[in-house]
Amino acid sequence: MRQAGVIVPAGHESPFGNHWSPVTAHCIAMRIGQGYDAHRFAEGRPLVLGGVQIPHGLGLAAHSDGDVLVHALCDALLGAAGLGDIGRHFPDSSVEFAGIDSRILLRRVVAHLEENAMRVVNADLTVVAQAPKLALHIQGMREVLASDLQVEPSRVNIKATTTEGMGFAGRGEGIAAYAVALLED
Ligand SMILES: [Zn+2]
Repeated sequence: MRQAGVIVPAGHESPFGNHWSPVTAHCIAMRIGQGYDAHRFAEGRPLVLGGVQIPHGLGLAAHSDGDVLVHALCDALLGAAGLGDIGRHFPDSSVEFAGIDSRILLRRVVAHLEENAMRVVNADLTVVAQAPKLALHIQGMREVLASDLQVEPSRVNIKATTTEGMGFAGRGEGIAAYAVALLED
């Protein structure tokens, strides 16, 4: 039969549209994952979010550089791939990961995806922080993360929100991040 102008082998028709790829000649499966992370503020550390260093009086306490946004993204990717979570792959008890640039972890996760013949379709991320203001840094974060994910920046969306003063983020105790990622294999 035909769907969207492409010949689709019997048994591969989808009610959600054509998922048969004439290029790779196999059925494309879509996999979704979500991630969440939070870290508390600490003095004497740089604030790194989405791989971008942001001027602020406080950084985030963590075994790594504390990039809460990258950690949530790693968990979304690993979740979509059925590969567990960031703590399993990069335990915070390991000296190897002490103070590590979280982009290195992200690139290792992407390498795991490649080994499993999966690639990123898109990711949608939300940072929850009362301060600092992040609007000026969003595009830079998109470009950094897209580069590590090996996709166009248009496939990485980043939103920043406050909680209007409510909860730990609202009281300025730390920053949280949520991520959703879609993979295809
Ligand atoms: Zn973390």
